[in-house]
Amino acid sequence: MKTKFDVIVVGGGPSGMMAAAKSGERGRSVVLLDKNKKLGKKLGITGGGRCNVTNNKPVVREMLSQYKGSGKYLFSTFMQHGVKETIAWFRERGVDFVEENEGRFFPNTLKAETIRAAVQREVEKQKVTIRRNEMVSEIIFDSKTKKFLVKTNNGVLSADSCVVATGGTSHPETGSTGEGFNWLNNLGHTVIPGNMSLVPLVVAKPWVSKLAGITLPEVKISVYSDDRKKSVYAGKLLFSHVGVTGPTILNLSKSVGELLEEGSVTLKIDLLPLVDAGELKAKFRNLLAYSSNKKIKNVLSEFVPAALGSIILEEAQVDDETECHSVSKEDRVRILTQFKAFSLPIEKLLGEDKAVVSSGGVQLDEINFRTMESRMIPGLFLVGDVLNIDRPSGGYSLQICWSTGIVAGMNV
Ligand SMILES: Cc1cc2nc3c(=O)[nH]c(=O)nc-3n(C[C@H](O)[C@H](O)[C@H](O)COP(=O)(O)OP(=O)(O)OC[C@H]3O[C@@H](n4cnc5c(N)ncnc54)[C@H](O)[C@@H]3O)c2cc1C
Repeated sequence: MKTKFDVIVVGGGPSGMMAAAKSGERGRSVVLLDKNKKLGKKLGITGGGRCNVTNNKPVVREMLSQYKGSGKYLFSTFMQHGVKETIAWFRERGVDFVEENEGRFFPNTLKAETIRAAVQREVEKQKVTIRRNEMVSEIIFDSKTKKFLVKTNNGVLSADSCVVATGGTSHPETGSTGEGFNWLNNLGHTVIPGNMSLVPLVVAKPWVSKLAGITLPEVKISVYSDDRKKSVYAGKLLFSHVGVTGPTILNLSKSVGELLEEGSVTLKIDLLPLVDAGELKAKFRNLLAYSSNKKIKNVLSEFVPAALGSIILEEAQVDDETECHSVSKEDRVRILTQFKAFSLPIEKLLGEDKAVVSSGGVQLDEINFRTMESRMIPGLFLVGDVLNIDRPSGGYSLQICWSTGIVAGMNV
């Protein structure tokens, strides 16, 4: 079995496959190693199985503004291969897209497998040697020969260049178990410890399980820390068996995690943000008058899903058997308060195993983003989730994989 290559790519996720395909296209002899039987296992579960490939922000600076402090590092990478080039790359390979809310691009088949298979086909087309079930245990750089020695369960491979694409630590069952960070540390890189980001939240109310499955397409969420309002978000809210999730929650989860270290956190939800308080009061009074002989529990569904209506009555301490004509002014005020500031005390972030990405990774100033080469070890390239890049949900993580993978592939 061949053991000497120009390039060894460790990790067959989206960033590793991109890097391998691009360097193969340039005529390099490339081997792609992954410990799984299937390449791109995590890619296959992205976007709820539909894969949010990227975000429709073709202007590089606009795209980079989403990455906050990390954006400035990514400029030269995205100028070479940004959103526009990514969309074109997939279209040239027969994948077309649909755009959903907030610019999210999905394959028009709405199947992550379409994306996974397209990238794998490219790897195969470029004659990359693929070794599945190949568990890497160590990467050594020989400073005399300037070669990399990669130890696996099947022996030792050597190459002039090595791409580390082993991902972060979220969803470890997909293969991303974080050992790449140990090798990179041993090679002299600084690895910032993981800090969960983009995770669902656990709500400290036993009734939350009764709301599982409810989606509220448009709410306003105010985040309170020890009764002080910290931030406000607008968007979709989904209830799960243990708490809340959905894109808006995932995006605010990191700051909630930080606030929980300081004290208690409560989300106050304006369930009806498109109706102002005065208008809502009048509408509610009319509803009660119109339905005067009905029970209050049977009419709140005019405003919110029925299961949520029951919880609102419980929280407002209004007997749900009360007939509408008997609802007192005080009851009305308490119910209206629930509509405008439904309180969700947060117990904790759901475990890292449920994180969409885990932040943390190699410190960015140790990488030359024009090439993705390490500034510490010549010939070592780092791509994808091993980099400490903070990003929101919405296709921004995979775009890092496409961009850094291609740029590394152009330079190995
Ligand atoms: C549930 C979920 C949904 C997501 N949805 C989206 C989305 O819709 N849009 C988006 O932009 N992002 C999404 N993400 C984030 C996105 O999946 C990641 O950013 C992306 O997969 C990172 O790619 P990567 O190539 O860096 O690493 P990974 O995809 O993590 O791949 C790393 C690979 O390295 C291999 N590996 C690790 N260690 C070793 C070793 N020792 N030896 C050999 N191989 C090894 C693993 O087996 C794995 O195949 C989602 C993440 C999750 C968990």
